[in-house]
Amino acid sequence: MNRVRLIIFNAALGALDYKVPNGMNVEHGSVVVAPLGPRQIIGIVWEEDRLPGDTVAESKLRPLLEVLPIPPLRKELRRLIEWTADYYCAPLSSVARMVLSSGGAMRGPSTMTEYRLSGTEPERMTPQRAVAMDALKNEQATIRELAELASVSDAVLRGLVNQGVLEPVEVNIDRPYPKAKADFDQPKLSENQQEVADRFVEAVEARTFAPFLLDGVTGSGKTETYFEPVAAALRTNRQVLVLLPEIALTEAFLRRFEDRFGAVPIVWHSSLKSTERRRAWRAIAGGEAQVVVGARSALFLPYANLGLIVVDEAHEISFKQDEGVRYNARDVAVMRARFEKIPVILASATPALESLQMAESGIYKRLELPSRFGGATLPTISIIDLNESKPERGRWLAPELVEALKLRLEKGEQSLLFLNRRGYAPLTLCRNCGYRFQCPNCSAWLVEHRFSQRLACHHCGHETPPPPTCPDCGETDCLVACGPGVERIADEVAEILPEARVSVATSDTLNTPEKAAAFVAEAEAKAIDVIVGTQLVTKGFHFPELTLVGVVDADLGLEGGDLRAAERTYQQVAQVAGRAGRGSKPGEVFIQTRHKDAPVISALAAGDRDAFYDAETEARRGAGAPPFGRWAAIIVSSEDENEAKEAARAIGGTRPNLPDVMILGPAPAPLSLLRGRYRYRLLINARRSAQVQDIIRSWLGDLNFGRGVRVSVDIDPYSF
Ligand code: ADP
Ligand code: ZN
Repeated sequence: MNRVRLIIFNAALGALDYKVPNGMNVEHGSVVVAPLGPRQIIGIVWEEDRLPGDTVAESKLRPLLEVLPIPPLRKELRRLIEWTADYYCAPLSSVARMVLSSGGAMRGPSTMTEYRLSGTEPERMTPQRAVAMDALKNEQATIRELAELASVSDAVLRGLVNQGVLEPVEVNIDRPYPKAKADFDQPKLSENQQEVADRFVEAVEARTFAPFLLDGVTGSGKTETYFEPVAAALRTNRQVLVLLPEIALTEAFLRRFEDRFGAVPIVWHSSLKSTERRRAWRAIAGGEAQVVVGARSALFLPYANLGLIVVDEAHEISFKQDEGVRYNARDVAVMRARFEKIPVILASATPALESLQMAESGIYKRLELPSRFGGATLPTISIIDLNESKPERGRWLAPELVEALKLRLEKGEQSLLFLNRRGYAPLTLCRNCGYRFQCPNCSAWLVEHRFSQRLACHHCGHETPPPPTCPDCGETDCLVACGPGVERIADEVAEILPEARVSVATSDTLNTPEKAAAFVAEAEAKAIDVIVGTQLVTKGFHFPELTLVGVVDADLGLEGGDLRAAERTYQQVAQVAGRAGRGSKPGEVFIQTRHKDAPVISALAAGDRDAFYDAETEARRGAGAPPFGRWAAIIVSSEDENEAKEAARAIGGTRPNLPDVMILGPAPAPLSLLRGRYRYRLLINARRSAQVQDIIRSWLGDLNFGRGVRVSVDIDPYSF
């Protein structure tokens, strides 16, 4: 090639053409450095005919500067990048950036410098230094990362480096990972597991696209079953990607993986240290990485030779990214498998209706594990009607549930109370004047967190200590907590059962893999009697001594503008119920509700999954909702409320008039203020067959807005 077209990371500039200097070797997918004005930029060499751009005269082209020493992005990945951009109406450059900048580091040497405390005291101790040094105990990372951890500027830490208080450590980022062995400790599978595993292994060996829905009840041994095709891929030196919905789950998974394969897999998530991130990225691109366990972003890594993708807990909403490129990793995983011509396994006890529908129509192959492994029985489920069986005043647990908790404690068994609400109370108000604490950046209430003594916004992270006086009327000691969060339920348990050891499990308390691991270890060692947790505890965990599950408020998820509210409620309650009785002792589940006749609650009570899915299918069909119709959202935001509103109106004013497409709005988005930006929204509901993306592209393509306006498209949105 003597001229090339590049994707660069600035959508506004589009594709750019360059000249290839003599002797430089580039191919499609090569990552290169190019001049742009006085700057240097990184770009990816792309097929010219697949990337519209203005063809520039040969004589005007500037030469490329350098080819980075990393493998070119393979054709399969390039097609996935294009598909993702096209399907989710996102700029190609944004998708390409997820592939590269997630690596963070293609250039540079194979060592990086991290720093840690040396034990030397600084010549002069300042309060800032003391705080920083305290925060950095047991930490080792780059200066930038340490500065973030300690909430100080880089300069403060540089000062400490100069005085020898922080010492450098050279980290070799190309050091190899331990090798997994396919035959390390093979379990004896049940007959049913073996049948399913054989199908997976066949598909891995056949090296063809094969999407599977592994539909197995909680505790049926899905993990063991999909470990067999993982082994098959390892045997033939191909890479495996396992997507998990939550980093808190990773730790337990890693241990299980290590038991089976004799080595821990590579972990990929957004809070990796930059040295680890670089190391993983290079091993993945170079083909040395065998198995990667990751959050959704691991899907866009440049695997050298992928042989299998597994999406565990595939129904989870955390696979949906709600910022930047708004993709659903479950769907992209299937597309990646298609481009790579490999099998993909979506595993779940409560599959998304969309996935079941794909199985129904023969596109996915559904394989079932209908019973629990080793003869464990599914728990019995009882409904507590809160209209009749009332908790005491100021409390949230009904008498039956309290009795059941007491009984477990007497028997030395564990209980789990589930409430999907972090913090102590969702709303704080002044008893004197009624003032409510609201986030200054979002249209949301501040949530009281007693452990950390903060009022916090769950949307933007804004935090403030609870003030001693009401900011409105000035009264002292007047703040009252309204409604329960998990911390408050934990308090209630402590009052009812003072001798019980209670542990709160949320993304606040288990926010690092280490804390999550410590929690799992404690629970397994029976050092916890009652776990009070959010959706974090609904999945993955396997505690054999846990025999009671109480759902504190099953109605919580049914409120609010979520198009999959019923499905979500079903999934969460069924999953959390699935934590009970996984060992030899049978489990019991209590569900507190005010709507015992709602279809989702009665299906749960009857343990009749099909009844729920049938009712939900009919409701969705009637509403033209997925999988029978399609939804998309256009979100317009600006820091200036008027500007946002005007832009949304302008979009609304040019709406296309099409027979199979209904367009609603603009209207203020449910979170009408988020992180300081005012948000308006239009909703599009169309027939399955409508080319929604094309419609949106041509609709928005000709419109121009002020610089402060951001317009984003959400295809297949989760919440309205
Ligand atoms: P699921 O993911 O379907 O909820 P798991 O894979 O976590 O189920 O399995 C539930 C429990 O049964 C785990 O403790 C697991 O180790 C055990 N188990 C499953 N299959 C086997 C097997 N073939 N041999 C031994 N133990 C198994
Ligand atoms: Zn906020």
